[in-house]
Amino acid sequence: MKYVGAHVSIAGGVENAPLNARAIGARAFALFTRSPRRWQAKPLEQESIRAFRNNLAAVDIDPRHVLPHDSYLINLGHPDREGLEKSRAAFLDEMQRVARLGLDKLNFHPGAHLGGISLEACLDRVAESINRVLDRAPGVTAVIENTAGQGANVGYRFEHLAHIIQRVENRSRIGVCLDTCHSFTAGYDLRTRSACDATFAEFAAIVGFNYLCGMHLNDAKPDLGSRVDRHESLGRGKLGMTVFRYIMQDVRFDDIPLILETPDRKCWPGEIERLYRYEPLPPDSDCGPRPGAAKPMPR
Ligand SMILES: [Zn+2]
Ligand SMILES: [Zn+2]
Repeated sequence: MKYVGAHVSIAGGVENAPLNARAIGARAFALFTRSPRRWQAKPLEQESIRAFRNNLAAVDIDPRHVLPHDSYLINLGHPDREGLEKSRAAFLDEMQRVARLGLDKLNFHPGAHLGGISLEACLDRVAESINRVLDRAPGVTAVIENTAGQGANVGYRFEHLAHIIQRVENRSRIGVCLDTCHSFTAGYDLRTRSACDATFAEFAAIVGFNYLCGMHLNDAKPDLGSRVDRHESLGRGKLGMTVFRYIMQDVRFDDIPLILETPDRKCWPGEIERLYRYEPLPPDSDCGPRPGAAKPMPR
């Protein structure tokens, strides 16, 4: 079964996120647990946490289908000591917020070398950052998102994700989130079924679907290989709908959060509905084939 949603607002408190997800017909969602553009954040209040958990249960969304996203300021591969320490402290705070909300994943962009260190040294540093944090945030998996490779960002090749994973000590608590826009603009074609077959086969060989904890479903404004990160509404960009139909019909993407980060939030209910229409009907559905029930008429 597929679990589709969007990155919803936390205006008025994190506890509003599940209600915002329900309002757009989502079975999954992403959220920030604090302001993504500020270093300072007040701790989550007990009342907010209780309301979040109650609302999540009320809208019948499983905590496993919620994919919190970390702050844009955090750079776990920062070349400078001060920037690195600040990032590690903020990341730990975010991991602990996720745990307190009763959730089990935190999605993050690996980091950027900023021209100060080599790409490989930056990836090593990201892995070291994860190793330092995992023990202090029990039950939460750190989910690395592949990037478009814009500027000095690392993590745009599947080999970069594998490089980090190989250096993480507790591999039961590390995962990957693939963003369709980032994959495409990083150079992985997804415009046709055969291109999707090839790209996901490469992902399976280099990283492995056992690490896949979520997907970001975004069409792309820029071209293949442009290394520019600009999302577009589904079907309106360079990707078209083929990849989204492909994902909805492939069991390798079952049971994980599939999250829209498309720019026009008015479109989310329609995009979610359209995606669910691609999903094959389950065998026990009233409208699907019923195994054993459809015996040929006797002649
Ligand atoms: Zn994304
Ligand atoms: Zn992006």
